[in-house]
Amino acid sequence: MTKKQIYKSALSEHQGVKDPEVTDQASIDSIKNKRLAQPTAKELVVGILNGNITDLSRAITLIESQNPDHIKKADAIIDQCLPHANKSIRIGITGVPGVGKSTFIETFGKHLTSKGKKVAVLAIDPSSTITKGSILGDKTRMEDLVKDKNAFIRPSPAANSLGGVARKTRETIILCEAAGFDTIIIETVGVGQSETAVHSMVDFFLLLKLAGAGDELQGIKRGIMEMADTIAINKADGSNLKAAKLAKVEFGKALHLYPLKDSNWQPKTVICSASENTGILDIWNIIHKYESSMKSSNFFYEKRKEQNKYWLMQTIEERLKSNFFNDKAIKLELKNQLLLIEENKTTPFAAAEKLLNL
Ligand code: GDP
Repeated sequence: MTKKQIYKSALSEHQGVKDPEVTDQASIDSIKNKRLAQPTAKELVVGILNGNITDLSRAITLIESQNPDHIKKADAIIDQCLPHANKSIRIGITGVPGVGKSTFIETFGKHLTSKGKKVAVLAIDPSSTITKGSILGDKTRMEDLVKDKNAFIRPSPAANSLGGVARKTRETIILCEAAGFDTIIIETVGVGQSETAVHSMVDFFLLLKLAGAGDELQGIKRGIMEMADTIAINKADGSNLKAAKLAKVEFGKALHLYPLKDSNWQPKTVICSASENTGILDIWNIIHKYESSMKSSNFFYEKRKEQNKYWLMQTIEERLKSNFFNDKAIKLELKNQLLLIEENKTTPFAAAEKLLNL
């Protein structure tokens, strides 16, 4: 059996289709053995480029691992996938818990797959640095989309820092694009710094809001409002519709007070109902318009270049830090210096100097 046949049959099996070519026991055993054996980086890359979801998931697991061998393998995979990445629209979606992000992504995602798009949903969950688990991107939250063969949903990776979580998601985007996903949705919870991380890896940023009773503008972090390319007031249905329309006007006024963005794009405000599937098409049309207008002004490509530079600096910072803190001598001396600080026998600056010069 050739490698191509093995992948084809594995993919068919994943999709629940029986491959007529794979009938004899030897072939079945060969697939089983292949699965038991850890695939090489090259094999995973071939699988990813063929759109094999199992291989994509395996490679993402390598990205998420802390094991140095896995990190090396993941780096090799990313490297080989890079030339096949970039061909997508990356959309960031944020909003406070309960605003309807997962309902929205489910409705929006299904709309896109029905139009022939391939949608990957990733998440950046700041809480995963603390709990080592993730609340966002949980598969059970998007029950229909997860069954869609043109959708791929991956929960937020866990890591020691938000930077770590973000970097892993950033690398996962590359693999998803190489696997043929043309629409990448990055979800985050609108409560902390994670928006900045998401903003630094997406082309378009959508802020989901709820209509309030006359206090629409309260509690909105200026920074998040400034980042938004569109604000969608969700749950614009039933008795909430009137308030949503009012909120749209208020947000529209507020957005006009901000200085014009570098992109020259005037952020839009819309109303939608994720559960009743209204306004979803409007949002997709806005994103589409944004993409073509930004591409014709070249801003789209310039922004991606700037984001790459940002990620270069972030990666260097993160690697330097982890090399430093994982160094055996540093670990030992750090304990010592912490003790000296505890006993008021040194200053933090002298201690840092000592450690940095070790
Ligand atoms: P998330 O925490 O932001 O992901 O929010 P969810 O998608 O889990 O939604 C929170 C709650 O709001 C759920 O009970 C949803 O059924 C409900 N919800 C979401 N979108 C809508 C909507 O457009 N209209 C109404 N009426 N309820 C919605």
